[in-house]
Amino acid sequence: MIIIDGSEGEGGGQVLRTALSLSLVTGQAFRIDNFRAKRDKPGLMRQHLTAVEAICAISGATADGAAIGAASLTFTPGRVRAGDYTFAVGTAGSTSMVLQAVLPPLLLADAPSRLVLEGGTHAHGAPPFDFTAQTLLPLLSRMGPAVAATLVRPGFYPVGGGRVEVSVAPGPLLPQEFVERGALRGVRGRALLSNLPANIAERELAAARQVLDWPDEAWGVETVAEGRGPGNILMLSACFDQVTEVVSAVGRVGVRAEDIGRQTANRLAGYIASGAFAGPYLADQLLLPLALAGGGCFTTVRPTRHTLTAVTIIRRFLDRDIRIEERADGTHLVTVA
Ligand code: ATP
Repeated sequence: MIIIDGSEGEGGGQVLRTALSLSLVTGQAFRIDNFRAKRDKPGLMRQHLTAVEAICAISGATADGAAIGAASLTFTPGRVRAGDYTFAVGTAGSTSMVLQAVLPPLLLADAPSRLVLEGGTHAHGAPPFDFTAQTLLPLLSRMGPAVAATLVRPGFYPVGGGRVEVSVAPGPLLPQEFVERGALRGVRGRALLSNLPANIAERELAAARQVLDWPDEAWGVETVAEGRGPGNILMLSACFDQVTEVVSAVGRVGVRAEDIGRQTANRLAGYIASGAFAGPYLADQLLLPLALAGGGCFTTVRPTRHTLTAVTIIRRFLDRDIRIEERADGTHLVTVA
């Protein structure tokens, strides 16, 4: 039994999702204690419980102690069963986070799967649907399996009600080198708006345009038809030959639209200038697939605590040599061997 201290490192939900995926793939049981102990509301939240339930549903695994607010649980893995599954987070909890947990085992299953995920699709502190669909999934597909996602309906905090469909054609994960991103082929700035005044989106875009000198046709406001609740996200994307980066910020009460626009644009400008393949979020999300592939590498910006924590959890389950070296150009090379 692998024992994990859930308060170590970044100490959030990612620790649990990574452990759940790895446990199913490797067949090793684990216990996690002190889960999210340093967070304002410690223990399992709805979206974490949904991830646990989803993992149990695709495998017949058991998770003793899993309940809202629980600080510990003991997980005994089962055998992965591909198939058609619907997972409803119930609130605006992130659908991408649930996908993060169930996708690695399903990528390696012996038959295709189709998933319907209901909940939040563009939540603060989580991968927005567009990041998952445009940044992460094409890279996983390049590693062997074929995986694609469709946004049926966006869902924002607090109302939720979003829906995402995912198709997974499994296959062995093969090592890949994600080092050169190639030439910049296109850029796009979109402010997505649901049941809120249009000027919020216009102010975000105007502020972003002061930082990013992109042509008029690169920018646009998209209004969600029949949105279930209020919501707004700014998403800026840069499409290179080998990777598309989507940098985003969710509009929130108390944060000025101009600040959202300027800060998000500065983050994307920083990524473009860095020359790195993976931005800060892609880096922590690429580690597990590469570890399961048994090798590969990528360049990234300065590693985050999420990335360092992913390394720690992966090492508990798999015998992998994971190295992070700073290169002369300031990017970091992450190698899994
Ligand atoms: P906690 O509430 O304890 O923080 P959590 O389950 O909500 O737990 P984290 O453990 O912090 O979340 O994990 C967040 C995950 O979401 C990471 O994998 C991170 O890369 C990803 N993520 C966060 N924001 C973005 C973003 N703007 N774009 C892409 N991915 C993101």
